[in-house]
Amino acid sequence: MTTHYFSPGPASLPAAVRELIKHELLDTFGIGVSVMEISHRSRQYESLSEETLKLVREVMEIPQTHKVLLTPFGAQQHFSLLLNHLSLQGDTVAYTETGVWAHLATVDAQAANRKVAVVYDGAPRLNSLGDPSNWDIPQESKYLHLTVNNTVEGTEYPSLKFHGHVPLVLDMTSAMASRRDIPWERTALIYASAQKNFGIAGCSLVVIHNDYFETARANAKKNNLGNALNYCAIHDAKSVLNTPPVFPIYVTNRYLHWMKAVGGIETMEKWAHERARLVYGEVDGTFYTGHAAEKHRSRHNFVFRLPTPELDAKFISEAEKEGILEIKGYRTLGGVRASMYNGISLESAHHFADFMKQFRTRNG
Ligand SMILES: *Cc1c(COP(=O)(O)O)cnc(C)c1O
Repeated sequence: MTTHYFSPGPASLPAAVRELIKHELLDTFGIGVSVMEISHRSRQYESLSEETLKLVREVMEIPQTHKVLLTPFGAQQHFSLLLNHLSLQGDTVAYTETGVWAHLATVDAQAANRKVAVVYDGAPRLNSLGDPSNWDIPQESKYLHLTVNNTVEGTEYPSLKFHGHVPLVLDMTSAMASRRDIPWERTALIYASAQKNFGIAGCSLVVIHNDYFETARANAKKNNLGNALNYCAIHDAKSVLNTPPVFPIYVTNRYLHWMKAVGGIETMEKWAHERARLVYGEVDGTFYTGHAAEKHRSRHNFVFRLPTPELDAKFISEAEKEGILEIKGYRTLGGVRASMYNGISLESAHHFADFMKQFRTRNG
């Protein structure tokens, strides 16, 4: 039986990428050495690394106004790193309370003695992103931090056009490489760990606007960040400042090659919309109840519940018999959450939507 793995992260790789990795594993470079063993100072890794950085820029359509670096760490380390690059103690910074991850980012800023302006608080339901055109963003804010896709709650900004001039910092961990509408001119920094949309756990992507780069370097020093935590130092060293997560970066390389071959992020975006259409088509009936406000629905995390908690449990256990795994809702929300990132095929999304339909017919 085929497994359809809808984990919120780490998440499925495209089947072709998994196969390729298996095929290449033990002799990745044709010199009898696996990618798990290759020296990060070897000619082979050097060219893999350079090619990966080029592919990131090309496939993710990142303009020359921005610098690209690959780092170790997950997204949570960047909560702290980004604020130490873009602000100093006492500075005003703007945050949004839109979910579990947005909250943790906000808490890190508060703990670092910034003046944190919470410009939107969606608690306790966290099912809507409000009306950004009404947000009161202090002019002096060094940046506005946004979680583009709220992975736990299943909400996502339909548009990334925000009013005002405060530079944007985007947590795109569950949305990178699947939407093309990034407002580049206004975006100071983007970060995303790889394990949801473009790789496996262990590396992350940081994109910094050229205009903020030297200030970021100076701020990091003033904030006493060590050299290996300094985005600019990592960038200067072409993302090989110290031993990088070689295997995760290799996986991202193969993932990006696959994306390019199937049509790039234009295709990723189209497929994300198509998967969402299939699942929300069922959610929109009378049997299932979606969590997110319709206009803020995520294209990646589908959060809904059934008429009773008993039916939630039955749905999850019967799904397992159809090869559908990891769809239990987050512990504070209950219900069901099916996550579908770039690696999930349209066939898997169809399989899930068909199961929803059959279950509704049997139990509705
Ligand atoms: C998963 C996730 C994180 C946390 O990522 P880690 O790499 O585990 O630190 C942060 N933000 C968002 C939006 C996420 O989806």
